[in-house]
Amino acid sequence: MRYISEFRDRALAENLANRIAKEVQPKRAYHFMEFCGGHTHAIFRYGVQDLMPPNVHFVHGPGCPVCVLPVRRLDDAIELAEKYNVILCTYGDMMRVPGTGRRSLIKAKADGADIRMVYSTLDALNIARANPDKEVVFFAIGFETTTPPTAVAIKMALAEGLTNFTVFCNHVLTPAAIGHILDSPDFAPDGPARVDGFLGPSHVSAVIGSHPYEAAAENYQKPVVIAGFEPLDVMQSVLMLVRQVNQGRAEVENQYTRVVTRQGNRKAQALVAEVLGLRDSFEWRGLGAVQNSALQIRDTFAEYDAEKRFAVSAKQSREVKSCECPSVLRGVMKPTDCKLFGTVCTPDNPMGACMVSSEGACAAYWSYGRKRAPQDAA
Ligand code: SF4
Repeated sequence: MRYISEFRDRALAENLANRIAKEVQPKRAYHFMEFCGGHTHAIFRYGVQDLMPPNVHFVHGPGCPVCVLPVRRLDDAIELAEKYNVILCTYGDMMRVPGTGRRSLIKAKADGADIRMVYSTLDALNIARANPDKEVVFFAIGFETTTPPTAVAIKMALAEGLTNFTVFCNHVLTPAAIGHILDSPDFAPDGPARVDGFLGPSHVSAVIGSHPYEAAAENYQKPVVIAGFEPLDVMQSVLMLVRQVNQGRAEVENQYTRVVTRQGNRKAQALVAEVLGLRDSFEWRGLGAVQNSALQIRDTFAEYDAEKRFAVSAKQSREVKSCECPSVLRGVMKPTDCKLFGTVCTPDNPMGACMVSSEGACAAYWSYGRKRAPQDAA
């Protein structure tokens, strides 16, 4: 583990903190949005905010795929499992997210629906192979990071002639969301929120490269630094952002050079492009309908599209009352601004996706004990 420990080195962190403190301009406020929930958790887990000067602020963004999935799509997944009697396969974080009426996949499972937690698309394929008499639906969620395994699964199913396997596709795309946030009234010059630059997604960028963010940096004049997930990665990226802001630059820089290149993984991109195409529009929790921000299964693979094989009904979906996840995901509220935080809503009794997901901002605030009463923070 020596390699990891070097990215958590205390002396280096103090050195970086001193350099950030020396370079920030005292009369200026710096608001940096970390797009990824992984960055939010790194900031809280390692106390990065405490090492920042008081005028450097982190704004938590929508980079948690479980959190941004709108309630209606979760309700649809529950309906697939209950009404069509399929085996629904999903990643673990989705199981406890409350849908309309606080109904979740785990509650549907307790009531008899066949819902199984998987670790990969290959697990879902194995379940389909082992259950030829049942329909198996993989509930695919995630940013660009998880799109290649979904494309692989569909191609493998086609190659094997597996006819009882489909995918309920909910993959979303990050560059469109960044533009949407910057276009929103929240971040207008007279709006309630500020953002001066972005800590850009890292695992996503390993797939798509850093170049897709260049248009947003140029058009909105906001710097983007692709940042790794270790505390020193985050701190070095903050220093790079501070320097760009001070110098009036708005470029895409890559701090995470040990993984990310400008072009990304072209083989993975080609695979995804073969199987999945752009949706015109997709709803994100908190952001509303975002143009060109999600993927759907191409017509050539339509037989593997759960939305084409099963008709999920249009229904009135509702967020849990008083849950402020939409505002938290837009970066206009902190989890602790929600009156349910830590009282009604805890990880044991989550009211919203942001408290369930391992990448959720509310879970980060709670998990690292920074906003809990001392007796709860043991
Ligand atoms: S604390 Fe709970 S109820 Fe409040 S925004 Fe977060 S997830 Fe929603």
